[in-house]
Amino acid sequence: MQAIQLQSTGKLVETKELNIVQPGQQELLIRVTACGICRTDLHILDGELTNPKLPLVLGHEIVGRIERIGKGVKGYDIGQRVGVPWLGYTCGDCNFCTTERENLCPNAKFTGYHIDGGYSEYTLANHRYCLPIDVNCSDSEAAPLLCAGLIGYRSLRMTGDPKRLGIYGFGVAAHIITQVAIYEGREVYVFTRPGDEKTQNFAYEMGAKWAGGSDETLTQQLDSVIIFAPVGELVPIALQNIAPGGRVVCGGIHMSDIPQFSYDLLWGERSIHSVANLTRQDGIEFLQIAKKIPVNTHVVEYPLSQASKALDDVRNGDLNGAAVLVPGLMNG
Ligand SMILES: [Zn+2]
Ligand SMILES: [Zn+2]
Repeated sequence: MQAIQLQSTGKLVETKELNIVQPGQQELLIRVTACGICRTDLHILDGELTNPKLPLVLGHEIVGRIERIGKGVKGYDIGQRVGVPWLGYTCGDCNFCTTERENLCPNAKFTGYHIDGGYSEYTLANHRYCLPIDVNCSDSEAAPLLCAGLIGYRSLRMTGDPKRLGIYGFGVAAHIITQVAIYEGREVYVFTRPGDEKTQNFAYEMGAKWAGGSDETLTQQLDSVIIFAPVGELVPIALQNIAPGGRVVCGGIHMSDIPQFSYDLLWGERSIHSVANLTRQDGIEFLQIAKKIPVNTHVVEYPLSQASKALDDVRNGDLNGAAVLVPGLMNG
């Protein structure tokens, strides 16, 4: 089968030499029909997330059809549409797993990092971490829900119950979660790179109440803020913009260093949270709400062989929406 393999930091190679293998007891063999590209893939590619499995098939926003079912699996059918998210395995025994915090399991394995992922025509996944996908959209449109949507949703839940929600960085996660926040009756204020009118217009199109540069200040304070941009300098800036009791939630897995700031900015019971991974319960809840709204994702499709170009486009921030790899899509 065709797959894109990471062989060492920075080195992606297309191969047709991988064999399709039988699913193990607890596994599903899935024919991949779409795999979204997440910024985390760049962090793995660049070596900012260390010690990946090597060689590795990247990709943890996988949508596909079940082709074969392991002997120990119940509740799935051949041909069924399923998604495979970032959380690929947890131990089930540790202090975190037994207290509904499996996202923090120290023995967790992640798809497209410790387990081969979806930049490939086929993939294997443990059925207990797969999610049935019954949202009313195409496979490519559903793919970004599996990480950008899910992590965005967990970030949104962590903001508390803000009336006025700020978002720094308007990429894939933000364009999805803006729709959820508006559906829940919140006002969304979007900060982009200064002067990035194209992204600001995209934010307005998705229903933002206000969009402007990260150097701009609002006349009225926000209740909470999510930072999706991997930029530590934004943390003290966001703290300046929130009301007492407000939260700054950092939605990314990697962020540049946060500069030193005065305690005054944190005073008034303001707080800073990171968001780590997801639980299966997050997945179930988010896909239900995404179906109900229904969430509308903007995607740009690429054939598998153009994975490097797609990753470059994500890196350069050229896309309004998500890059999605589609096995079998013709070049050009
Ligand atoms: Zn555990
Ligand atoms: Zn991701």
